[in-house]
Amino acid sequence: MTIHHPWDDAPGEGRAVELAADVLWMRLPLPMRLNHVNVYAFRDEDGWTIVDTGFDTGRGRAIWQMLLDGPLAGAPVARVIATHQHPDHIGLAGWFQDRGAALWTSRTSWLFARMLQLDAQDRVSDRQVAFWRAAGMPADRLAARQAERPWNSADVVHPLPLGFTRLVEGQVVRFGSRAWRVAMGNGHAAEHVTLWSQDDDLVIGGDQLLPGISPNLGVYPTEPLANPVQDWLDSCARLAALAEDRHLVLPGHKLPFRGLPARLDTMAENHESALTRLAQSLAERPRTAVDCFDVLFKRSIGDAEYGLALVEAVAHVNCLHQRGLIAQVGVTPDGGTVWGRDTAPDLR
Ligand SMILES: [Zn+2]
Repeated sequence: MTIHHPWDDAPGEGRAVELAADVLWMRLPLPMRLNHVNVYAFRDEDGWTIVDTGFDTGRGRAIWQMLLDGPLAGAPVARVIATHQHPDHIGLAGWFQDRGAALWTSRTSWLFARMLQLDAQDRVSDRQVAFWRAAGMPADRLAARQAERPWNSADVVHPLPLGFTRLVEGQVVRFGSRAWRVAMGNGHAAEHVTLWSQDDDLVIGGDQLLPGISPNLGVYPTEPLANPVQDWLDSCARLAALAEDRHLVLPGHKLPFRGLPARLDTMAENHESALTRLAQSLAERPRTAVDCFDVLFKRSIGDAEYGLALVEAVAHVNCLHQRGLIAQVGVTPDGGTVWGRDTAPDLR
């Protein structure tokens, strides 16, 4: 079975689409190329459970207020579940907590979100600059970035108060009149929560289970040798063991869909074929991660996407390196690491 979208139209601003009894789908805008995030609400006796929140912006809060006064009126928000630590998902969790909701998420998501929340920088750090340089960012772009205030997660994430409820792999939790099995994914965000209904066909996918678009798999100076592409592939394989055609996936972006087993196969194949393309290309012409954009993305990368493209290119290079298929073969005059075919004898 291929991907199928039972609903063609997304909910408008401040409105909800009912996906099942007491299960609502809503959207918040994002000021980016990917211009929205999906959020969901599940009702039972103790009130609403909200999944993901959008950014903490004046507009985001105003839309939530419309939703709270409209489709969500009549019951309190008992808890917020953050599928992962990215600001478009956890941005207003603290705002709901301030109003009495509990926060459920993975331990890594909470720690990461809270660390980044407290880690606001007015200037780009030296480590960040060294990371960009090694990835192959050209000197003029590097200088421009150093002259700007960097983007901070804290700009769009409401302060997270102390205290959360940890979701754990394999655990079964109850909300929205259903029991849900927790299954963690990795690669896009560490310890990303997915939830699988034990009572019907619903699966809450966050950004781990998306239709149509591939979530960003990025490496950051936080962990420069991370291998999120392999983490992602491993997650696709593990989640495939749970996935069935009957499942209705509620994704973090785009439209709800059926056809998860095929979608997981496609996502894994896309990254494996990108890795193969990249290994061949680097064997023919060694170069930096940034100079691999054309091979990886097969389109030109604009300024707005440059940062995400860079971290994703480094991720694919790291994966090939850790598979022993490429090695550092030189350095550009600007200090970029040049990658090429690993010609060292195999001593293993
Ligand atoms: Zn997202």
